[in-house]
Amino acid sequence: MSTLITNLGSLVTNDPALGTRTAAAVVIDGDRIAWVGAAAAAPDTDHRFDAEGRAMIPGFVDSHAHLVFAGDRTAEFNARMSGQSYSAGGIRTTVAATRAATDAELEANLTRFIGEALRQGTTTIECKSGYGLTTEDEARALRIAAAHTPETTYLGAHVVAPEFKDDPAAYVDLVTGEMLDACAPYARWVDVFCEQGAFDGDQARAVLTAGVKRGLIPRVHANQLHHGPGVQLAVELGAASADHCTHLTDADVDALAGGDTVATLLPGAEFSTRAKYPDARRLLDAGVTVALSTDCNPGSSFTSSMAFCIAVAVREMGMTPDEAVYAATAGGAHALRRTDVGVVAPGARADLLLLDAPSAVHLAYRPGVPLTAAVWQGGVRKV
Ligand SMILES: [Zn+2]
Repeated sequence: MSTLITNLGSLVTNDPALGTRTAAAVVIDGDRIAWVGAAAAAPDTDHRFDAEGRAMIPGFVDSHAHLVFAGDRTAEFNARMSGQSYSAGGIRTTVAATRAATDAELEANLTRFIGEALRQGTTTIECKSGYGLTTEDEARALRIAAAHTPETTYLGAHVVAPEFKDDPAAYVDLVTGEMLDACAPYARWVDVFCEQGAFDGDQARAVLTAGVKRGLIPRVHANQLHHGPGVQLAVELGAASADHCTHLTDADVDALAGGDTVATLLPGAEFSTRAKYPDARRLLDAGVTVALSTDCNPGSSFTSSMAFCIAVAVREMGMTPDEAVYAATAGGAHALRRTDVGVVAPGARADLLLLDAPSAVHLAYRPGVPLTAAVWQGGVRKV
């Protein structure tokens, strides 16, 4: 069954050969894109959709989210916005609520957030564990997540579990041993929060190398709150992504520019903690591949809106609108080592976002305005 989407006022393909086109059309066949070109030259298809001059981009690829949790941190946010500062320990509030929740409650929350993201154009979403911090609770978080996305990340090393606060080395042993064994079957990635108050460079290295030995691919929460070893460790270990990258030395930027690790920027976190934004311009000018993601989580960035992240990145982080849209689609795909998403080209997954706007610039130009006109995921119209 094939569908022609025609009369696209603008089409962002992220494909160097196809470029950004006007008066364009796309053909979907099954779950894939079969053809991209000029509307006037489109082939015959079973069905036809008239986009009436609207803009189309690849579905957003949100490569960093924490969606298996219970509870709410409204009070913490409210306190912080009233003058108190954020520290990594707030995670423990969510850990207590998550442990107390049933599987059904966690899954209902997860599907609610995935649906919320889909309605805003996110067709690929990564999901981390990290609010269980016991072998059983981390494994169930990943088991639940794996039923809804292939991009699952083992983050037992989110923060030291409260039971181990006087013996963090024993917790690292658990995370790299029994907990990893229980989680690895449900995870594609291994992640660690490398930060003061969470895990230091040596502990992060132990977590990541243990994960790699179990077949997981590393990604790192790095340099969010302070300078530290996270970014350079990520590059050294061939991580797919170093996430946050807010506090970078010149050596950190050089390492990213010289390696294959994507810098994933998460402006929702700085927005929600009134912190300094990462300098995307500095990274782009150095030749680093940049992704934008939501970091959707109840503590430090409770947004599922990629459009919001684009608007903030353009206004506060020195990105052009084109660069920000690329980072939120193809950049996220790079950060997940995916070549089938984040691009509109023959053979790619038919994950498409039609905007209620004549160009993708409107994502930054019209902040806070719902611009989703239609969403296709795997060739199926979902919105
Ligand atoms: Zn995160």
